[in-house]
Amino acid sequence: MENVIQPQPGIMDIQLYQGGASHAEGVSDVVKLSSNENPFGPSDAVKEAVRKSVHELHRYPSIDHLSLRRAIAQVHKLDADRIICGVGSDEIISFLCNAYAGPGDEVIHTEHGFAMYRISTLAAGATPVEVPERERTVDVDAILDACCFRTKLVFIANPANPTGTMIGGNEVARLADGLPPQTLLVLDGAYAEYVDGFDGGASLVDSRDNVIMTRTFSKLYGLGGLRIGWGYGPAPVIDVLNRVRGPFNLSQTQLVAAEAAIRDRGYAERCRAENARLRTWLAEALAGLGVPSDTSCANFVLARFSDQDEAEACEAYLRSRGLLVRKVAGYKLPNCLRITVGDESACRRVVHAVGEFREVR
Ligand SMILES: *Cc1c(COP(=O)(O)O)cnc(C)c1O
Repeated sequence: MENVIQPQPGIMDIQLYQGGASHAEGVSDVVKLSSNENPFGPSDAVKEAVRKSVHELHRYPSIDHLSLRRAIAQVHKLDADRIICGVGSDEIISFLCNAYAGPGDEVIHTEHGFAMYRISTLAAGATPVEVPERERTVDVDAILDACCFRTKLVFIANPANPTGTMIGGNEVARLADGLPPQTLLVLDGAYAEYVDGFDGGASLVDSRDNVIMTRTFSKLYGLGGLRIGWGYGPAPVIDVLNRVRGPFNLSQTQLVAAEAAIRDRGYAERCRAENARLRTWLAEALAGLGVPSDTSCANFVLARFSDQDEAEACEAYLRSRGLLVRKVAGYKLPNCLRITVGDESACRRVVHAVGEFREVR
């Protein structure tokens, strides 16, 4: 008999998210450089806050996240009433799709855009629309050309993953101002912390009613395992998202950890500076070995090889040396490998191994 128990249309079109590898067969001393994690982990203040939180695990957490929202608002000089916190920025992306897009609606993402935009769009029953990029960089005109009366959301990450490239504030403003009236622009700022002095688009949010920014504690703050993100948008949009948000979506442990993380400005600044230093060193050393990359604004380098075969062979060689990097053929970059900027010893090991690989080839 035919199975009449079926999911909503679009669900079976979802390709499962591919995470970064974390184990290498038969190799000890493995370094994971495949998920853009902070190699130094969370700050000591965060570890202490998590330790203390275990005594309150029988209590339900805060529903309104007020203390964390106030800390974020203070640090970034934002309006706490227009901040929403979620289980990673992934949950904010999901809230946006569920609240604003459904069957018959279109959601735009770019050619090399982050996989969750497409997954959350399909989960909401809406139609993902992929727009070309120009030389691995978001193309504002291509996005504006793809917009129509069905377009409800446009997702761009700035800096972008997995390309590491950015577009300037004037270009983002031109995009916001050129959108149809029913379209909301989502600025994914997962890597905004890595750009010294960059507000992630917060000022654009403040000056427009069609822009929302998402941020995360998973990258610079070293808390990918704890799952905390946030969004900053116009009051009516935040009100909508709070209606689809579960009241207890974040545990008290998540909330206190995030607050300790964002208040530890010294640690965040040291991680940002160390990433910038090692990223430059890594990119230049790889270029010296004949492996170029675009100037990265994030915590990874997108290394370009001559073709897919060479990229895959290099990934396998690095893996055999305990160095796990990310293949990005699924992001339409088959000749590239995304390499997270690790600590100094990890960066040296990568360069040494890529050098060996280039020699034997
Ligand atoms: C890592 C990343 C995120 C963060 O996801 P979380 O759910 O907050 O861990 C969001 N967007 C992009 C582009 C990313 O690379």
